[in-house]
Amino acid sequence: MRDGYGRRIEYLRISVTDKCNLRCLYCMPHDIRSLPMKEILTYEEIAAIAETAASLGITRIKITGGEPLVRRDVCRLIGMLKKIPGIKQVTLTTNGVLLKEHLEGLMAVGIDGINISIDTADPKRYERITGSDTLGAVLEGLTEALRYHIPVRVNAVSLDPAFFAETEAEHDPLKEAAALIELARERPIDVRFIELMPIGAGKSFPGIPHDVLIPLLLKRFPALARDEKKHGNGPAVYYRMPGYQGSIGFISAVHGMFCDSCNRIRLTAQGYLKSCLCYDTGIDLKEILRSSLPEPEKNRALAAGMEKAILCKPKAHSFAKQENISEKHAMSAIGG
Ligand code: SAM
Ligand code: SF4
Repeated sequence: MRDGYGRRIEYLRISVTDKCNLRCLYCMPHDIRSLPMKEILTYEEIAAIAETAASLGITRIKITGGEPLVRRDVCRLIGMLKKIPGIKQVTLTTNGVLLKEHLEGLMAVGIDGINISIDTADPKRYERITGSDTLGAVLEGLTEALRYHIPVRVNAVSLDPAFFAETEAEHDPLKEAAALIELARERPIDVRFIELMPIGAGKSFPGIPHDVLIPLLLKRFPALARDEKKHGNGPAVYYRMPGYQGSIGFISAVHGMFCDSCNRIRLTAQGYLKSCLCYDTGIDLKEILRSSLPEPEKNRALAAGMEKAILCKPKAHSFAKQENISEKHAMSAIGG
């Protein structure tokens, strides 16, 4: 369906847990308390919402978290979603730590693609960011996923290396980006840089704005040329590097201001349907699902609630004005 500004909403991100096996500094504060399991939607409840969403025109679903692979039997949910009429694609975003051991299960239920979050190719810096010495396991998972011929993309939040640097030489933001771009040289994967958004701990963390990073990268790699090929339906802008198998993408969530073409809504692990990352506007679908309404009425209420949330989707984010950001949750609770 279309929202109040005529945008076609066809993409739903579903967070299946607020728990995570990493503690990325800009995403998940160390002292964060996870929700009791009874507050989290069951797989059956998620599937009921996804069915209603499909009836309203949602065709693609991304499973996220927290870390989705820490929730028990997440492949069962993916299998349930894949069977919903109208749902054409179910993909996953993961930190990749547990990916290798889940690949067979993910293949068996027909996963359509996997995004792996890797913010740095430097193991020491990776540990500093995530609190975990697991870059090797993540890269193994990536290599193994390619062996299964699953479409893979790498997402890297553009962090300011000055925060981690111990010497002047380590301040160079291009060194970090260049090492990540290397991942696309001999692998058919897109490496995408994501602008840090001022949500949760991201508010007080130093990122590199893309209006700074992109010109620097284009100067350093003059061979980078715009790639007009369609890479999905998201807002990334792509470039190609001659001789590289994958492309380089930029998701400039703050400076890009691509709200005019926004096509997505988000379901938190607690069952709150959010219409924009920046604000807390939306609807509590868990309340409807767990109400005492008889089944047909419950389904009607679910559809009506979702329609209303979509119609009231805000026109644009307001990341430039922190006082306007009403979203107070950590990104790990929302799903990114
Ligand atoms: N744990 C999974 C992962 O890391 O991919 C899924 C959840 S995580 C919240 C989804 C994505 O959001 C990750 O790529 C993460 O880097 C990104 N993210 C978290 N906080 C962010 C922020 N403040 N700005 C931009 N991206 C952020
Ligand atoms: Fe966990 Fe993903 Fe957040 Fe890192 S970005 S703390 S992996 S949810």
